[in-house]
Amino acid sequence: MRSTPISHEGASSEILSHLPSPFPSLLPSPPSPSSPPASFARSTPMAASALESAWEGLAGSFTEFQLATVVTFLLHESVFFLSGLPSLLFERFGLFAKYKIQKKSNTPSYQNRCVLRLILYHVCVNLPVMVFSYPAFKFMGLRSSLPLPHWTVIVSQVLFYFVLEDFIFYWGHRALHTKWLYKHVHSIHHEYATPFGLTSEYAHPAEILFLGFATIVGPALTGPHLFTLWLWMVLRVLETVEAHSGYHFPWSPSNFLPLYGGSDFHDYHHRVLYTKSGNYASTFVYMDWLFGTDKDYRKAKAIEEKDGKHL
Ligand SMILES: [Zn+2]
Ligand SMILES: [Zn+2]
Repeated sequence: MRSTPISHEGASSEILSHLPSPFPSLLPSPPSPSSPPASFARSTPMAASALESAWEGLAGSFTEFQLATVVTFLLHESVFFLSGLPSLLFERFGLFAKYKIQKKSNTPSYQNRCVLRLILYHVCVNLPVMVFSYPAFKFMGLRSSLPLPHWTVIVSQVLFYFVLEDFIFYWGHRALHTKWLYKHVHSIHHEYATPFGLTSEYAHPAEILFLGFATIVGPALTGPHLFTLWLWMVLRVLETVEAHSGYHFPWSPSNFLPLYGGSDFHDYHHRVLYTKSGNYASTFVYMDWLFGTDKDYRKAKAIEEKDGKHL
């Protein structure tokens, strides 16, 4: 009968563990805090293992403070501008006009004004907020060490963040549409009645802080891993850029995802007078449906479908 093969490492460990005390240095050293536990490494699928190796390389190149601040900022800037630029270029060069929600277009100088102000706000508001909120994130239980959370934990946490953010955003956004707050704060975001992807983050600094607050309540409650926090940030940026893109394509996510608002839903919010706009939620449609703030939008959609054109 063939005996079960024993790996060289396993055999030597077993043998070495019985060696007398003069040879303790030959025993395998305990895993360092940054190494994944052996049991995890053995049971992790190859893709997850590759991801962990990449994460280990990243975590080995930067301090946690650098990862949570400067690297997070650079990741946000990359995802935001790369995902937002296509709709700006489509509008500027008249591409995909068939799928443009509004017939009006922003002039190139009006688009450029948005981009320049965004860079200013991001450097002068977003980056300092990231740096100074690092101790608060640590207090919330932020960690960046291996192992990465199991994918089921990541998915359930990110879904929870989306639902909670949508709820907070809905009520905060309704408040921003009251007379004083609209006039002094939220009207900046509504300067672009014909939105394009990058206008999603074009807002008064006070509103930027509110948006940041709504985004981090979920992570604050769960004490996330930095990887989960990054994934949440990337998905939230892609979602809001799409909602402001000004284009509704056959492949737009709202055609496939139930309860998802998307570009058509939020574009209506921008093109209607602020006291009548409704559609206050950030991601989903059910909050506006529950509280009756999508009635005018539904009516407009019904007329639009009857006439076969956008209002
Ligand atoms: Zn608004
Ligand atoms: Zn908006």
